[in-house]
Amino acid sequence: MDALENDALARIAAADSLDALETLRVEYTGKKGSITAQMKTLGQLDPEERKTKGAAINAVKDRVIGALKGRRETLQAEALKAKLSAETIDVTLPGRRRPPGAKHPVTQITERVSAIFQAMGFRVAEGPEIEDDWHNFTALNIPESHPARAMHDTFYFDANHLLRTHTSPVQIRAMQETKPPLKVIAPGRVYRCDSDMTHSPMFHQIEVLYLDENVRFTDLRATLETFLAALFEREDLPIRLRPSFFPFTEPSAEVDIQCVHCGGEGCRVCKKTGWIEVLGAGMVHPNVLRSVGLDPAEVSGFAIGMGVERLAMLRYGVDDLRAFFENDLRFLRQFQ
Ligand SMILES: [Zn+2]
Repeated sequence: MDALENDALARIAAADSLDALETLRVEYTGKKGSITAQMKTLGQLDPEERKTKGAAINAVKDRVIGALKGRRETLQAEALKAKLSAETIDVTLPGRRRPPGAKHPVTQITERVSAIFQAMGFRVAEGPEIEDDWHNFTALNIPESHPARAMHDTFYFDANHLLRTHTSPVQIRAMQETKPPLKVIAPGRVYRCDSDMTHSPMFHQIEVLYLDENVRFTDLRATLETFLAALFEREDLPIRLRPSFFPFTEPSAEVDIQCVHCGGEGCRVCKKTGWIEVLGAGMVHPNVLRSVGLDPAEVSGFAIGMGVERLAMLRYGVDDLRAFFENDLRFLRQFQ
């Protein structure tokens, strides 16, 4: 019995893994283990001898189980220690940065233009992108068979519904909802069947409308000067108005700024003219006022329309409009 115990305790102390320890447990104390086998021999002994020997075997069994438990705890503690040191986190390492996001250049320009007009008392108005023919054309003095309808390359859903071709229908909705005085700015997406270097089937416009008694062309000019000087951050930025035609304004003007690249000397950007066309504007046409039930003798106003991508191209020196919609991060990261 002593030899069995000494052998068991020596092997348990030398066990180098939990698996090896489990094998030893089965070998000594399992159903077919050697200590269990000793217990089975007790039946052949007389009662007095059985009592003494039984107590001795149980004592050995308890010591072997105690040794197994102690060795298991040691091995588990060692395994935990090894695992912890393998998974050590070096808290002195620098963190991995998440690059900050940025607003799309089209959004940046839209917010900037809106903020400039809001500072002048205009409120932001919105309208649906799916419009009806009346709001998009007829009410804006573009009757059926008007050549301007063909020029707009419209996406139609049916004879009466379309994707708005400009933000001007928001003017009509604003005039229907609110009596003058009215000062609104309407930024939004517009759609035309057109795609090349300077055209995209979806692009952004900003519409500005000011309606009140006695609004004059000089008010328009002063507003344009204030706005463009603020947008291009040039207090003395010269502007120029050239006569033009839009169905919904009369008189109408194309508005140029002095070339911000060459200061009017003439360069590639301004095609040697010294001027760059930035937007269109004019006095609201009497027919437009009549279409929403206003009397042109009592109210007058001006409207300004601009392409957001065009302004962004000018301000950031981008020459392909499609770059704004390709979502190439190498391009977009330049506007952070
Ligand atoms: Zn120039």
